[in-house]
Amino acid sequence: MSEPPVETVDISRLSTEAADFESRLEALLAWEGVSDAEVQARVAEIIAAVRERGDAALIEYTGRFDRLKVTAMSELTLGAARLEQAFHGLPAEQRDALAQAAERIRLYHERQKPASWSYVEEDGSVLGQQVTPLDRAGIYVPGGKAAYPSSVLMNAIPAHVAGVREIVMVVPTPDGVLNELVLAAAHLAGVDHVFTIGGAQAVAALAYGTESVPRVDKIVGPGNIYVATAKRAVFGQVGIDMIAGPSEILVVSDGGTDPEWLAMDLFSQAEHDEDAQALLVSWDARHLAEVEAAIARLLPTLEREAIVRQSLARRGALIRCRDRAEAVTLINRIAPEHLELSLADPHALLPEVRHAGAIFMGRYTAEALGDYCAGPNHVLPTSGTARFSSPLGVYDFQKRSSLIHCSEAGASALGRVASVLARGESLTAHARSAEYRIKE
Ligand code: NAD
Repeated sequence: MSEPPVETVDISRLSTEAADFESRLEALLAWEGVSDAEVQARVAEIIAAVRERGDAALIEYTGRFDRLKVTAMSELTLGAARLEQAFHGLPAEQRDALAQAAERIRLYHERQKPASWSYVEEDGSVLGQQVTPLDRAGIYVPGGKAAYPSSVLMNAIPAHVAGVREIVMVVPTPDGVLNELVLAAAHLAGVDHVFTIGGAQAVAALAYGTESVPRVDKIVGPGNIYVATAKRAVFGQVGIDMIAGPSEILVVSDGGTDPEWLAMDLFSQAEHDEDAQALLVSWDARHLAEVEAAIARLLPTLEREAIVRQSLARRGALIRCRDRAEAVTLINRIAPEHLELSLADPHALLPEVRHAGAIFMGRYTAEALGDYCAGPNHVLPTSGTARFSSPLGVYDFQKRSSLIHCSEAGASALGRVASVLARGESLTAHARSAEYRIKE
């Protein structure tokens, strides 16, 4: 008999406190994500070249890595009119689907807009916080192996809703092949300029600016190892959203969902790439066997069968746990990017979920709906970083300034406190500055 396409891991007899539980989990979650010294050196070289030679370096690297030979940056630049033309040129079905998705994403993100706030103290002093958008955001849209119109919407719409004045998008176009859906999405999402450049050179151009590419304040969007390494390297010069690892899903099933639906949900994650992780956990052993059978049955029907097989064999697993409580322990330990609660009553479990990028609730909520059009953002924390970070949102394109407006009486009262503390720190200019404003 041949090997099953995905391993079944039985943790139901291991105590979640035990070291062997932890080591099994670590083995399951491990991946080679750290860029090696060679990639780092190469990226550093590319960044230095773009800083030194600007557009000329961009033209050279685009010729070398994307096989797109041009003589001027104008040939790597697309304006608003070209984006609009792409939108109107789409088949009606695609145009409508894109427009519906964009509208739903916009409506969802409108709700995220934080308001500035302030309050008045008894002595008339006002304290508060003013929220302001970034001036300019840079959006990296991957385009090496595949094109992602949904990523354009998910990155640019929150920036637009946040009130960012100028949105600059970069997208590599290997061999010069433009993806009309990507350009149409840029039009819908309010992107101002598109440059058909990619990789570390595009990140460097956004971070430092060139003769043609304007320097931005923050770079968002996923990409391959060169892009991720470059984003890490320019952080500080500009803001970045996150360093995304491979995509992942954890499905929790109570045994009541059609095994074929669940198999396809796992495939939808695994087909991203060989490093993607698809896990399903259940306390129902018979159900797990049914899902395993459905996987074997449906695998040959997939267009990306080879990638899915590799991803499932390398990083996939069906996990048998003892009960719901153990499933919850697993969720919070893994802190998955996508969590699918395929349960009769997902709301009952929800309060116990502390760490997850996005939570898909109930049997009907396929993760794929969230990838494209449900409304919430599909750029999510991966590799356990949901422990401390959140989905990309409007807040990523804004910052907060503190507001302090002292009344005369307020300055006098605070001056007494500040003076004591400043003198305690031997900062006498601080103390005297505060003391000037004390009213005897
Ligand atoms: P990409 O745009 O990230 O990278 C293409 C660029 O890589 C090229 O333009 C080139 O400049 C550079 N490059 C390639 N080989 C190089 C080399 N040898 N030296 C220096 N630079 C080189 O596109 P991709 O490669 O298709 O990768 C896309 C990535 O984005 C995938 O890993 C995919 O999983 C990820 N992704 C993630 C999400 C998400 O939401 N997390 C969404 C879409 C894509």
